[in-house]
Amino acid sequence: MAQLRISAKDLGVFALPGFCPRCAWLKLHVANKLPYQIFPGIFSSIDSYTKKFISSFFEKYGHFPEWLGSEDKFVSLVKKLHHSNFNILDQTNDILLTGVPDEIFKLKDGSYFVLDYKTAKYTETQDSLLPLYEVQLNAYAYIAERTGLSPVKKIALAYLEPQTGLTHENVEQFKTGDGFVLPFAGKILELDLKPNKIPDYLKKVRELYDQPSPPQSKTECKDCQLLENLFKILFQK
Ligand code: SF4
Repeated sequence: MAQLRISAKDLGVFALPGFCPRCAWLKLHVANKLPYQIFPGIFSSIDSYTKKFISSFFEKYGHFPEWLGSEDKFVSLVKKLHHSNFNILDQTNDILLTGVPDEIFKLKDGSYFVLDYKTAKYTETQDSLLPLYEVQLNAYAYIAERTGLSPVKKIALAYLEPQTGLTHENVEQFKTGDGFVLPFAGKILELDLKPNKIPDYLKKVRELYDQPSPPQSKTECKDCQLLENLFKILFQK
């Protein structure tokens, strides 16, 4: 059995209502060699800026910003989270589960709080990607509890909403010497903690990967047909 590697985020795709087994099979088999995999770097810049803000705030004031939640007694940030030490090999399915959350906080009672940032508008239930995020964060909790960060008590998303209420009356306050600032408001959405579901997802990954040929799509997506049409044009000549 060939060892597989899957990130927490890619595992989360298996939970989406529009999950396409054909697409997932292809991704598992070609790994990182798919075309058109270019993403704008601005979101990772905002994520790392947010992390810097959180750790600098804690260094300066000895506590975390109120919007992270006051009911939890934060003690510290777990530092040096890195993909080289934050992963777990699932022996049953021979799958290496990887992926590093944006933050893990240690709480006063000795438990941990796993948090991921999303640069998007906060909605309690409207985010179509919520099923993906829920599995993704539970996968982080699953890894954390097997790499010495146990127990995980809470998982959540921190939505960072761009504050775009700029008018000609208040424009002055957004001006800087060489440009302008865009403020963000942080809002927390707690997700259901159920890391015991992760082995079921890993089993699904193994079963899908072991299928000898790509399954049929179960979605309305027509891209495969378009691709076939493209091949016909390219290779008929
Ligand atoms: S039908 Fe769409 S989602 Fe499914 S494999 Fe083809 S391109 Fe991917």
